[in-house]
Amino acid sequence: MDLILEQSKLGKAVFANKDFKKGEEIIEFRGKIFDYNEIDDNSYEDEHCIQIGKRTYIGPSGELDDFINHSCNPNSGIKVIGKRVILITIKDIKEGEEITWDYSTALNEDHWEMDCMCQSKNCRKRIRDFKYLPKEIQQKYIKLGIVPKYILENLKRNPE
Ligand SMILES: [Zn+2]
Repeated sequence: MDLILEQSKLGKAVFANKDFKKGEEIIEFRGKIFDYNEIDDNSYEDEHCIQIGKRTYIGPSGELDDFINHSCNPNSGIKVIGKRVILITIKDIKEGEEITWDYSTALNEDHWEMDCMCQSKNCRKRIRDFKYLPKEIQQKYIKLGIVPKYILENLKRNPE
């Protein structure tokens, strides 16, 4: 097993069970695909849904991919290739490190927000849409190739 689920300070979290090199595939998200309209705000599924298209979401799979936490200083990011959603590393990761990605890299909905408790030095305190990220952080994520197409298209349409 490349990954293990463990209890962390903030609840369940996924940890590397081996060393990963930058750019490596970590896991594929395998939940059911939903349309925005089909999501019940109060359901378990809403909490585990990830936006993967303008109106498309992927739900929980019941596997490890449901428990990968957000960080404002992440070591991974998602790539959306058609209907496949893959988590890749954006830096080298050592065995035992928690696997995290920045949820804002997939968010473009003006709906869901959450207080952040990631405790990283650069924590933004609030998880919100990609468009609200500081420009230099947007650019960093775009260069890493972990910003899905529907977000890039939205930025082009609404330049500031
Ligand atoms: Zn944070």
